[in-house]
Amino acid sequence: METDRIRILEVLEQTMADGPGLRTSIYCAGCKHHCPGCHNPQSWNMDGGHWVTVDDLFEVVRADEFSNVTFSGGDPFYQVEAFTALARRIKEETTKTIWCWTGFTYEQILADPRLSMLLPYLDVLVDGPFIQEQRDTQLLFRGSPNQRIIYLTPKEDDYIPGTVRTLPLR
Ligand code: SF4
Repeated sequence: METDRIRILEVLEQTMADGPGLRTSIYCAGCKHHCPGCHNPQSWNMDGGHWVTVDDLFEVVRADEFSNVTFSGGDPFYQVEAFTALARRIKEETTKTIWCWTGFTYEQILADPRLSMLLPYLDVLVDGPFIQEQRDTQLLFRGSPNQRIIYLTPKEDDYIPGTVRTLPLR
């Protein structure tokens, strides 16, 4: 269990592809969901990428005054302790919002105390596995309609009509 470093595939700065507006997107290595038709199967290797410390990732996030933050992969919930440490720091020291993509469902995460440790620090969760038979290229930020854009806080300015709002967890 790592708490101070994360296996990273790539950090994209000022991207507009992973949520609303400009974002610093942190793509981690490792995913065990193995969805058929996954857009990024090279991300599945749990030993892929390279280690980057939470401190160094935070400095990249903080250095960009304008960008919010996205966690993606791979699946960040397979490195949940270190992502929680990073997200807590982002929330304590900046006003940035955090979107996070995962192949787990929101309900699976809520039922697991270990996985759910990250939820209080996220603004938006995009959940669930990709289902190839339901692939829909018209969906915003998702590959199949079972995946949901779930707002965990009322903070997100870019609420997308028709998506899911939950009661804030914090
Ligand atoms: S959860 Fe995402 S990264 Fe993991 S296998 Fe499914 S589509 Fe690929």
